Amino acid sequence: MRPTKLSARERNMKKRVIVLGAGIGGIAAAYELKESLGDTAEISVLSDTEWFHFVPSNPWVAIKWREPKDIKISLPDTLPKFGISFSSAGAKRVLPDENAIECGDGSRMEYDYLVVATGPALAFDEIEGFGPDRNSHSICHVDHAAKLSDRWEQFCAEPGPMVVGAVQGASCFGPAYEYAFLANADLRKRKVRDKVPITFVTSEPYIGHLGLGGVGDTKGLLEGLLRDRDIKFITNARVDKVGADMVTVSEMNEEGEVKKVHEIPSRLNMMIPAFKGVGCFFDEAGKPIEGLVNPRGFMLVDKHQRNTKYTNVYAVGVCIAIPPVEKTPVPVGVPKTGYMIESMVTAVAHNVRDVIAGRDPKQEATWNAICLADFGDDGVAFVAMPQIPPRNVNWAGHGRWVHLAKVAFEKYFLHKVRKGTSEPGYERIVLNMLGVNKLR
Ligand code: FAD
Repeated sequence: MRPTKLSARERNMKKRVIVLGAGIGGIAAAYELKESLGDTAEISVLSDTEWFHFVPSNPWVAIKWREPKDIKISLPDTLPKFGISFSSAGAKRVLPDENAIECGDGSRMEYDYLVVATGPALAFDEIEGFGPDRNSHSICHVDHAAKLSDRWEQFCAEPGPMVVGAVQGASCFGPAYEYAFLANADLRKRKVRDKVPITFVTSEPYIGHLGLGGVGDTKGLLEGLLRDRDIKFITNARVDKVGADMVTVSEMNEEGEVKKVHEIPSRLNMMIPAFKGVGCFFDEAGKPIEGLVNPRGFMLVDKHQRNTKYTNVYAVGVCIAIPPVEKTPVPVGVPKTGYMIESMVTAVAHNVRDVIAGRDPKQEATWNAICLADFGDDGVAFVAMPQIPPRNVNWAGHGRWVHLAKVAFEKYFLHKVRKGTSEPGYERIVLNMLGVNKLR
């Protein structure tokens, strides 16, 4: 995209664009908007922390294959270098009728355009005993993964049974498999795997569904790998209670009725929670902002990533509402993966530029997904184009190369954040050659 050049008069009328959230979606959005809008806008990022952290590396942090500092980048030291202002005051409440945000420090920020990239709130409170403040651990945030890594050392010194998985309503299954296989690999390295029965508990109707109806043969691949690595599994699982040394799970039948109740002894639990929207999209009474978000607080967007009621508000990433791909006995959501999120970002950068120039938005993200799940010594990759079926490309593969590719992905993404670029020209060229595009 070529940035627009402005006259002196136009420069005094710069549009204020706020990107809310500074994860994979928010940072990519800030850089692409800066590139597409050039001098026509002031880009500000408002987050609730000073750090960008690379979420896909959290499973490595949890088993101490990474330190949190390896995957974190200071935003106040980085964004201003690229002409983007930054605040970590956080949004207390979004006020779309006033084109403003009430910040956590009591200040107020006004915008012409808002790009929301706030990711998920983690709904641990929906299950008794669940969550990192109670009887289970999490890898969804780097701080949770760091807490789990401390527990991991104690656990390996005194090993016992463990439960890994993703609960009812979860929409992020890849990292659950990833953590189960990484734990298996690390326990084998430490020569204590024989003392750790692992049970994989998932709301998916079958192994490898991934919230996507499967991709290629992820069902066969992942089931085979679980068997090969001696990991038992329960599908159609509703987690009822997470106790200090026991997880209670109801296995449901096709009709969604309880088929069997399992009481699984466990000394360490890591299960991915269901997600919901973050607090700033709810009013003081806890009611979701009408027209902006759905009842769970996910952003409502059209095919241009734009809210239909508040048309100067766009959204990318995990914070957007997507309906499930199919009805399942236990609810499962649709994952929003890295490349899919980057495709939303590219559409938004084009659409905001067009709207500022007085044109209608016309770009639609492909929502293509390329995913890498590292299992320690090997891994599983899949390509789903588009992510939601039916697809033009529907492929899954397995091998040691996936482990190496995931390491490269981490290094490359962190490099892009440090260098202030979202999609360098060579990345665009290579992906175009492979037929992987971000825009329809
Ligand atoms: P996030 O990365 O969660 O970013 C949200 C941002 O909003 C954060 O900066 C947060 O601090 C900020 N925020 C929240 N509330 C507020 C507020 N009130 N005010 C201001 N700021 C706020 N996808 C892949 O493609 N490949 C992978 O290997 C992969 N691995 C994953 C591993 C894990 C453990 C998880 C949970 C997900 C993984 N994903 C992966 C899926 C997806 O890519 C990530 O979840 C990704 O981080 C989502 O990006 P996001 O920008 O939507 O949200």
